Amino acid sequence: MKFELTILGSNSASPAFGRHLSSQVLNIGQNFFLIDCGDGTQNRMMNFKVKATKINQIFISHLHGDHFFGLVGLLMSYGLNNRKEPLHIYSPPGLKPIVEIQFNHELGYPIFFHETNPEKHVLLFENTSVKVFSIPLVHRVPCHGFLFVEKRRPPNMIKEKILEYQIPFNKIKDIKKGANFITKDQRVILHKELTKPASEPRSFAYCSDTEFSKEIIPFISGVDLLYHEATFMHDLLEMASKTKHTTAKQAAIIAKEAAVKKLVLGHFSSRYSDLTPLLSEARTVFENTILATEGIPIVI
Ligand SMILES: [Zn+2]
Ligand SMILES: [Zn+2]
Repeated sequence: MKFELTILGSNSASPAFGRHLSSQVLNIGQNFFLIDCGDGTQNRMMNFKVKATKINQIFISHLHGDHFFGLVGLLMSYGLNNRKEPLHIYSPPGLKPIVEIQFNHELGYPIFFHETNPEKHVLLFENTSVKVFSIPLVHRVPCHGFLFVEKRRPPNMIKEKILEYQIPFNKIKDIKKGANFITKDQRVILHKELTKPASEPRSFAYCSDTEFSKEIIPFISGVDLLYHEATFMHDLLEMASKTKHTTAKQAAIIAKEAAVKKLVLGHFSSRYSDLTPLLSEARTVFENTILATEGIPIVI
């Protein structure tokens, strides 16, 4: 099953040096989740051939414009394109009136606003394949990140065993759930002989925007991929603290102490045209770090 992140925008505040505002699409088994929706997000989706129509859940981290100013345009396009499917938007309180005042007519499809509590780590959404939790962050306005955790899948059948014991198709569902199989000559074949465990559930944590906060570590411990903001380099630590952002080095410290498998840095300040110094700084602490690159999917 696919578990793939496409970063649509990796810059903070305003577009610069070919980088765009915060937005990402996570594809988990053809369930598409939009995470933040900065100005220009719908164009970015078209550029990267992301099927915007497949998005039914949008997660907004906080109400700074660089994370949600693309939303109104996207919602309007959905209406113009005859969308009928309900759309669910998760965000800290205050988004609904800002969005609704833009429209003096019905959009033609239902929008459900789910107000979150940014101070709590809670389950926001789940379906058959994934759970989405909030991660409390510390920023200038109420803000949270998001943790996507794949659900454990049933074990896989071993093909050779299906042939060996002539297992009919209609028995496979039960065997996957834990049933044994009884052959025509009444032999009992144990479930564990017929199946192999599915791969370990995968996880992705999105942490933007936030000051350096070790309090998030228990929530993101061991994730396969951590996107953490790295607005500044460490020589601007004072600026980072004042604006409640993080430096590349601090992001790497979080990744290391949380023992994540991979770190992707993003939310870059427009003062940096070349990002390699941020990458080098982070790699001195946490080697498996990459820079957010817009439009190139990261397979988790
Ligand atoms: Zn921001
Ligand atoms: Zn912000």
